[in-house]
Amino acid sequence: ATTTETRKFEAEVAQVLHLVTHSLYSHKEIFLRELVSNASDACDKLRFEAIAKPELLSGAGELHIDVSWDRDARTITIADTGIGMNRDEVVANIGSIASSGTRRFLEALGSEQKADARLIGQFGVGFYSAFVVADRVTVFTRRADDAPEAGVKWESDGRGEYTLEPATLDQRGTTVVLHLKPDEDEFLDGWKLRALVRKYSDHVAFPIRMPKEAAPAQADDDADEAKADAAPEWETANDASALWTRPKSEITDEEYQNFYRSLGHDFNDAAAWSHNRVEGSQSFTTLLYLPSQPPFDLMMGGRDERKGLKLYIKRVFIMDAAEELLPSYLRFVRGVVDADDLPLNVSREILQHNRQLERIRGACVKRVLDLIEKLSRDEPEKFAAFLKAFGNTLKEGIVEDHANRERIARLLRFASTKGEGAAQTVSLDDYIGRMAPGQDAIWYITADGHRAAAGSPQLEAFRARDIEVLLMSDRIDEWMLGHLREYAGKPLRHVAKGELPLDEAGKAKQEEAAKAAAPLLDRLKGLLGERVEDVRVSARLTDSPSCLALSDHEMAPHLARLLREAGQ
Ligand code: ADP
Ligand code: MG
Repeated sequence: ATTTETRKFEAEVAQVLHLVTHSLYSHKEIFLRELVSNASDACDKLRFEAIAKPELLSGAGELHIDVSWDRDARTITIADTGIGMNRDEVVANIGSIASSGTRRFLEALGSEQKADARLIGQFGVGFYSAFVVADRVTVFTRRADDAPEAGVKWESDGRGEYTLEPATLDQRGTTVVLHLKPDEDEFLDGWKLRALVRKYSDHVAFPIRMPKEAAPAQADDDADEAKADAAPEWETANDASALWTRPKSEITDEEYQNFYRSLGHDFNDAAAWSHNRVEGSQSFTTLLYLPSQPPFDLMMGGRDERKGLKLYIKRVFIMDAAEELLPSYLRFVRGVVDADDLPLNVSREILQHNRQLERIRGACVKRVLDLIEKLSRDEPEKFAAFLKAFGNTLKEGIVEDHANRERIARLLRFASTKGEGAAQTVSLDDYIGRMAPGQDAIWYITADGHRAAAGSPQLEAFRARDIEVLLMSDRIDEWMLGHLREYAGKPLRHVAKGELPLDEAGKAKQEEAAKAAAPLLDRLKGLLGERVEDVRVSARLTDSPSCLALSDHEMAPHLARLLREAGQ
């Protein structure tokens, strides 16, 4: 007897389902991309597990994904011969929200009930996109290492509950059947589906097979037990070769962009990419992309959701390995690294101490910095947008990556007293190029906001001398500047610290003023006592009568405040 169990979705799933079905309305068609991408992931996983257990691959033949449709039953079916799921996995993976990222996503959305469609895919809610076009979804699945009787049937109308029952499945892997909503007939069309596969899934490295065209589904009275007598003739609808293994010259920009979108689950184009093959004692291929928009988790300062940089070994997907392949300040990069010489049974622990991987990591960093430099030279507008999205992340590299500090600093742009308002457009090279005669330092001020920085009385003396000052007001700036003491041989100095640059005439004038003011200074010192280190006549001010200054070894006030806030 079959036992059907009805379960409730986790509360968050219900919420995600609601969001997904409403937000993806104008991007309905991506349900196919999401389901095919899950099927492809499942084939990747099986191929990986089969390294240790080759017997897993026997039975269902070559790894492939079948997409078919049935006009009478009004269903679309996506079937794979991948790893499959057992009962517990079904419950964990599609009955609840395993990823902490999704939880954060929901928290962040808060009361705002409409998600930007482009956010959806990044949060592992891909499967639920099925409910954008379907009012009932049935999943048949069996894990590759289980017996046929250990299969599972899962079904839901996407409204809070799902059912589970045992099923006997001859073939391993997963079959997803979408029962389309009344208005979604446009998808019951071979040409349409084929076009979507080409558009979104062409690069999937496994054959996506579809029934040969001009074979409309035969009317079948027992649609439920649909087992057509004449097996359909299948043909492969996608390119089915791993994009990065093809020569650059044969890949169009559109193909590169499509691949990027599927990697990054991004609806936007990539800003730039770099595709390279290194041959030699150690051979590997890298295909690295710069996004044009920040992904959601990056805006949230999240670090554990670092998907999108995939490690392959000889075309076998091994794992998402962003942390192993790039330092944290380049976590916005998406792409693929395919190494020829790493052992296939490599684990995350091994990777972290692997010399070969260290070399690959070095090459990746270099490629990415090259790519950003190229963007800054050749495409100023795209570069500006890129910096707006990722500039603050890049600044972390000043602290994190000593070896590349100067290269990273060259890429940064700042607001300045000679810039365009609050816009961050001035490079350190721009600054050096217009330093005043005799000026030997790069001057900056830090503050909580641009207006506070630009309006500071500390700037008066610099304005009067026509000395440019960089206006730093991003939260990370103080921390970064603590590590950026020098650029191109010039020290970087806070305007509130130490002595101002003075010419000879200025020095003489100041000494004279100091003499004249000596009695006043003594009185002030007496009055202020322990609270100050010294009271001096200064050339800092032109309009304000006095200001607080710091000696060279003291912390900038803004940093001192930040540390106090952090409880240090
Ligand atoms: P993501 O793919 O980002 O993890 P999805 O919502 O698309 O998020 O899928 C959720 C999970 O369900 C997957 O991580 C996977 O464990 C499981 N899953 C979905 N489709 C399949 C499939 N065809 N074969 C095996 N597992 C699957
Ligand atoms: Mg998915």
